[in-house]
Amino acid sequence: MSTTSATAEPEVATYPRVLLKPRKANPFYARHPWVLDSAIHRIEGDPADGAVVDLISDKGKWIARGVFNRRSRIQVRLYSWRADEALDETFFRQRLERAIRLRADLGLADPRGGARIVYSEADGLSGLIVDRYGEHLVIYVTALAIAQRVEMIAGLLDELLHPASILLRIDPTLASTEGIEVADGVLRGVAPEAPVQIDEYGVQFTVDLSAGQKTGYFLDQRENRRVAAEYLRGRRVLDMFCYTGGFGLAAAKLGGATDVLAVDSSRKAIAMAESNAVLNGLTQLRFQVGEAFTVLDELVAAGEKFSGIILDPPKFAKGRKSLEQALRAYHRLNRQALELLEPGGILVTCSCSGHVTPDDFLYMLIGVAHKSGRSLQFLERRGAAPDHPVSADCLENEYLKCVICRVS
Ligand code: SAH
Repeated sequence: MSTTSATAEPEVATYPRVLLKPRKANPFYARHPWVLDSAIHRIEGDPADGAVVDLISDKGKWIARGVFNRRSRIQVRLYSWRADEALDETFFRQRLERAIRLRADLGLADPRGGARIVYSEADGLSGLIVDRYGEHLVIYVTALAIAQRVEMIAGLLDELLHPASILLRIDPTLASTEGIEVADGVLRGVAPEAPVQIDEYGVQFTVDLSAGQKTGYFLDQRENRRVAAEYLRGRRVLDMFCYTGGFGLAAAKLGGATDVLAVDSSRKAIAMAESNAVLNGLTQLRFQVGEAFTVLDELVAAGEKFSGIILDPPKFAKGRKSLEQALRAYHRLNRQALELLEPGGILVTCSCSGHVTPDDFLYMLIGVAHKSGRSLQFLERRGAAPDHPVSADCLENEYLKCVICRVS
């Protein structure tokens, strides 16, 4: 053994090896981070769930390093394509620093606002989402690999961002399929007693960090709310699926909508939306707890008309299998909305189903236009805000579509 090579080369630990089947390696050379069960030929070294493993081609070539989880559909989540890189604290610090730098470059470091600081695969950290609301952080975990390292990650976020508190939320559906044992809780600091207030382009929102949906608020629609507000200036608006008031409040405060009816099926969300309206000194909003399809039918039956409608429903397509059914639901929803929309009206229509492609969504709208005999002009076709980037290595993270149309 030559002493020069022993000192020049970093010490590389050996990890259990996951060997791929023939012709399965290409996506992983292209840095796709999800190794599914169906691609795996053999596992050497009996890794525990959550252990670091190396991914090896059928020809015996080292491809990448990741974290193993036998229980998950994604058996290995890949994090590094450098053989000399350990998945240790230094690695996670570098990835977090890079993610934080992007948000600062995007102008989203204002401590009064909200921003997604880490967006899973898009930031090279599959299974980790971190949202900042004012001075508080919410970590949202969707993978065992991250759940097992969440203490370390909280320590790093504390060191890099000095938040007042760090809360942990676990995706409830993934907790059982991933075998995650940690529960929601407070990782650092003291959880805020009351909902936290954030400023979004001059609109104030309160966010319930521990009991709200997902991490408490839908930051992905931030830019769409601001842009939609411009189109809704001076209009009579229906904000369907309003949650805590997002689009409706922005339309009223930033766009000067004259009158807004905001509807959501969640009583808690509507209560918060009402208090958000008061917080912003807005009096032109009315709120209603109700089921969207039913309320739309009722409004049509009552002969109501609007000059602007926002549709921001929850995910209709949970998987590829439910795509057709989801497209039918989007069709029905948008068709009902057109019945309520005056000629010259603005429709802001969204879909957060990743399985529905932007083209699927557009063709659905084209079908709605034909069926209802209305003509639709697409003014803007938008996606999620840039703090929800999409990595070229993992396009699956692209999910949000927001189409702004004029309807004659
Ligand atoms: N537009 C909001 C986010 C909407 S999230 C914003 O800008 O913040 C989707 C919302 O749809 C949730 O608040 C959920 O409570 C609501 N929802 C789900 N199913 C519904 C239904 N069938 N009818 C009405 N609202 C529904």
